[in-house]
Amino acid sequence: MPVRPRHIAIVGAGFSGAVIARELAEAGHRVDVFDSRPHVAGNCHTERQDGDVMVHVYGPHIFHTAHEHVWQYMNRFGTMMPYNHKVKATTQGKVFSLPVNLLTINQFFGKTFTPAEAEAFITSIGDQSITDPQSFRDQGLRFVGPELYAAFFDGYTRKQWGVDPVELPASILARLPVRFNYDDSYFNHPYQAIPRDGYTPIVANILDHPGITVTLGVVKSRVDLEAADHVVWSGPIDAYFGFEHGRLGYRTLDFERQVHEGDFQGCAVMNYGDPNVPYTRITEHKHFAPWETHQKSVTYHEYSRLADPNDVPYYPIRLVKEKGQLQQYVDEVGKLSNITFAGRLGTYRYLDMDVTIHEALGAVRALLTAWENDSAASPFSVDPL
Ligand code: UDP
Repeated sequence: MPVRPRHIAIVGAGFSGAVIARELAEAGHRVDVFDSRPHVAGNCHTERQDGDVMVHVYGPHIFHTAHEHVWQYMNRFGTMMPYNHKVKATTQGKVFSLPVNLLTINQFFGKTFTPAEAEAFITSIGDQSITDPQSFRDQGLRFVGPELYAAFFDGYTRKQWGVDPVELPASILARLPVRFNYDDSYFNHPYQAIPRDGYTPIVANILDHPGITVTLGVVKSRVDLEAADHVVWSGPIDAYFGFEHGRLGYRTLDFERQVHEGDFQGCAVMNYGDPNVPYTRITEHKHFAPWETHQKSVTYHEYSRLADPNDVPYYPIRLVKEKGQLQQYVDEVGKLSNITFAGRLGTYRYLDMDVTIHEALGAVRALLTAWENDSAASPFSVDPL
């Protein structure tokens, strides 16, 4: 039986909202997308600034994925340029290679270890009494031992998250590999790239479909959307409910923007592990586009702090208090129908771009299948808890 065309209202024009809008429009539905900001692409937004340098306005975004279909999706809407992300770290008065690899280990300890020797050494200094690491700290101490943990992880993480790493989940550290060879790529994924023209035109292209209207600079609340057959909410989940169980905590970022002549730091991202250096990292944006040449350079010194209500939310904190609040919101969602919560803000999770796109495609598949079968789709494609 053909599916009745529906009218869908989507809040948020980042990757989640845009991908869901596109797939629903291609399936014959009418989609209105709203975003409170004056641009699409959410925190992936890019624009050319001083001397035409492509700036990642909300901080560095490097596309990396192992999902073939997500890689194809990005390439359908823009030109992706090969880019192998490498990060350096300044700590204790020296510069090191990151993520922790054989060069880092040999330089840090003044050794000439082979891969096998380095692995045996790191195992010997790792705290093997921690058998089931639950916290970020335990994970760090077990896997790299106290010296490397202090130099690269403890100070950085206190600055980034504003709490003792003992309170943070081990999963945050699991984002970073430790390698016993000289591979210094920040990511392991087979596809790594940066869009030639930035992320914003890609999201605009995704949204460019006759079945989609986009309205920017408008704040929509739950009552504004009642006329739609279905709502997709990729804004903050607590905002949908008017913060009735309190505001979910986020870290926000302040960027101290500087413009320089020439090359400021010689790489795209330099992390700062020392606790007394107030910023976590410096991003030099032109190094994200090594295929371009610029005399001018734009840098961001990045400072992390707790988000106030008017700040841009970046990283969901997800500690015990927030998990409890999230549970209350998830319970509220269970009482609703004809709604999908999606993306980083809609599900209150620390998501990479590729996972966001992967989940958005999954959410649409579930929705279209439910409509075909005249049944209800789950409001979350992935359990947010
Ligand atoms: N991290 C750290 N030292 C570093 C880089 C990262 O301790 O030099 C920790 C920190 O807690 C951070 C997490 O690892 O939040 C994930 O780092 P990633 O570079 O993936 O963060 P993102 O680029 O998403 O901010």
